[in-house]
Amino acid sequence: MFFKYTPFFPERQNNLMTFKDKRVIVTGGTRGLGKAMALSFAREGAWVAVSYASDEKSASETEAGLKKLAARSLLLKADVSSRSEVEKMVGSVLDKWEYLDILVNNAGITRDKLLMFLDAGEWDRVMEVNLKGTYLCSKAVIKSMIARRFGRIISITSPSALTGRAGQTNYSASKGGIISFTKSLSREMARLGITVNAVCPGVISTPMTENLDDETRNDLINMIPMGKFGEPEDVTGAILFLASEKAGYITGQVLAVDGGLT
Ligand code: NAD
Repeated sequence: MFFKYTPFFPERQNNLMTFKDKRVIVTGGTRGLGKAMALSFAREGAWVAVSYASDEKSASETEAGLKKLAARSLLLKADVSSRSEVEKMVGSVLDKWEYLDILVNNAGITRDKLLMFLDAGEWDRVMEVNLKGTYLCSKAVIKSMIARRFGRIISITSPSALTGRAGQTNYSASKGGIISFTKSLSREMARLGITVNAVCPGVISTPMTENLDDETRNDLINMIPMGKFGEPEDVTGAILFLASEKAGYITGQVLAVDGGLT
């Protein structure tokens, strides 16, 4: 008598499980780009912790998606711009999982306005979430990575950092800061088994870009050699590659995934 083999978790079949039991934290990992990254890591067998700021609906949907993949997962509400919340968030992951292999600094916001209308609060908030958040989260995980002589830190920057964009002085400065931060930290960590890189997505269809007016959307599409926005899943390959063992000799780099935009 033959039994038909039914995979227990069909979504996880046929994978090489490159990240089996690797422990990952993706900030802002509950929607848009971060959600796609979290699910991709989970499909490859990783334990995935995702943090978010306030969108509870996306958070519970992502948590359900991770559970469906049978991933060991943690859902953490924390403001990345707050030192105490970041320390508590990373501390709770380390308490439960002992160490972390991979940090993706993905949480980010925009507050777009021409400089003449941009108030100091909008400047500060973008710098605090995007740049200070990257510093705080990296600092919070680094000791545990150094102790094990292994780590991957990947931070999300933007084409605005490379080419500038009218209406984004605050955002482009914060994302440019992430590139400089990445390059300096990569040098501090280079002999300790920890690589530090940045990924620069182009214009990707996520909640961040869904409210663009038609004129802006068309202008952007015309600027992209491939003639279309990317999807979150277009970016995950670069993230997983840089996080993998295969990318162990790559550090201090910025990898653009932008349809040729930059
Ligand atoms: P999104 O708005 O869908 O997601 C942002 C995530 O960041 C959310 O999960 C949110 O909860 C989290 N977040 C926001 N503020 C936070 C805070 N203070 N503390 C903790 N988490 C916070 O946007 P997205 O498009 O998925 O963007 C993800 C990253 O990619 C951002 O850093 C963004 O700047 C960058 N990026 C996006 C694009 C694009 O076209 N969408 C292009 C280049 C770079």
